[in-house]
Amino acid sequence: MANILIIGAGGVSRVVVYKCVQNRDIFTKITLASRTLSKCKLIQEEVGKDSIDIAQVDADCVDELVTLIEKVKPDMVLNIALPFQDLTIMEACLKTSVHYLDTANYEHPDEAKFEYKEQWAFHQRYKKAEIMALLGSGFDPGVTNVFCAYLQKHYFDKIEMIDILDCNDGDHGYAFATNFNPEINLREVSSKGKYWENGEWIETKPMEIKISWDYPQIGKRDSYLLYHEEMESLVKHIKGLKRVRFFMTFGESYLTHMKCLENVGMLGIKEIEHNGQKIIPIQFLKTLLPDPSTLGERTKGKTNIGVVATGLKDGVRKKIYIYNVCDHQEAFKETKAQAVSYTTGVPAMIGAKLMMKNIWMQKGVLNMEQFDPDPFMEELNIQGLPWFIKEL
Ligand code: NDP
Repeated sequence: MANILIIGAGGVSRVVVYKCVQNRDIFTKITLASRTLSKCKLIQEEVGKDSIDIAQVDADCVDELVTLIEKVKPDMVLNIALPFQDLTIMEACLKTSVHYLDTANYEHPDEAKFEYKEQWAFHQRYKKAEIMALLGSGFDPGVTNVFCAYLQKHYFDKIEMIDILDCNDGDHGYAFATNFNPEINLREVSSKGKYWENGEWIETKPMEIKISWDYPQIGKRDSYLLYHEEMESLVKHIKGLKRVRFFMTFGESYLTHMKCLENVGMLGIKEIEHNGQKIIPIQFLKTLLPDPSTLGERTKGKTNIGVVATGLKDGVRKKIYIYNVCDHQEAFKETKAQAVSYTTGVPAMIGAKLMMKNIWMQKGVLNMEQFDPDPFMEELNIQGLPWFIKEL
């Protein structure tokens, strides 16, 4: 039915490939392309040589992407590389009139700042070309946006406040490692915090605001306010919203290591000179840290990511909590990847499936909460990410 091209061959991509192969009735032809062909080969050997084709591509180069797309002739491209490649891949999809999906919004390599502006700017051109881009089809962003749309549709006349709560309680046994790409992860968590209230963005120092939240199946954990990209689209699409915040858990050891690395300049994103060579400190740090795709086997514990919404239904104030719990070891058993990759890769496959079945299909550049949440919520239960809902 659908011919898809997946770009990137890291931890999340591995899960996307496994899940697309499981949904073979929809994804009849799968090509996996990345910068390092050997990483594509490894995944190909795991899922079966006949299951997917592989190719090499530098996704920073629009011409290379166009050549590959013209050869593979996919119905859509799944961008599972890094946020730095969003604009080049979107441009290549536009040039070839092919649908697009990603899991994280564009970030400029030289500035630790992410926003939708440059991707939303493609909207009219995508509309004119009669193609669709689905932005942020991971867990957060992704499922968290769909949770909000679901609550809006079924539980509230008006949502006033949203708190997104992200807990990774996995233990990989290392003193310090990140669960997904270290460069992206460390840039995100060492940046200033930001939340939206009464129509304006309020900035905080990194890790300045902390709450303790009792995560079902995990327990009480310190959770720190961060800026996270789904807030930007939620304030635009959930009407009547007064406040939206995002919290993520961090252990003491992680925070101490991060502070120390930051203090000595190891999180720097600007080039420095070292023994006559130019290096970027955070990229050098990435080389030293364990590769996130190798953490799967050793990571034990669970993730719990959810949304707490407060608002009005028939004039009565309500507070509803909706969340998913994912077990690292279960995720590894199924896909040879830990739960952070699993919880991102499964929604990416579901987004692509709904697009290819024409269930989620509109022309232009769209965010997850702009679609009917029900078919996505059903798929989450079927594809390995069941969710729970309760009134607080
Ligand atoms: P990895 O670093 O494990 O994998 C990234 C892959 O992209 C690697 O295979 C890498 O190739 C490839 N890549 C990088 N640059 C290029 C390029 N120029 N051309 C071709 N391929 C390239 O990252 P993850 O799998 O952990 O993350 C993938 C994406 O998922 C990221 O965008 C991340 O931000 C996002 N994410 C989203 C989440 C969500 O909930 N929405 C949560 C977690 C992650 P090489 O191996 O050669 O370096």
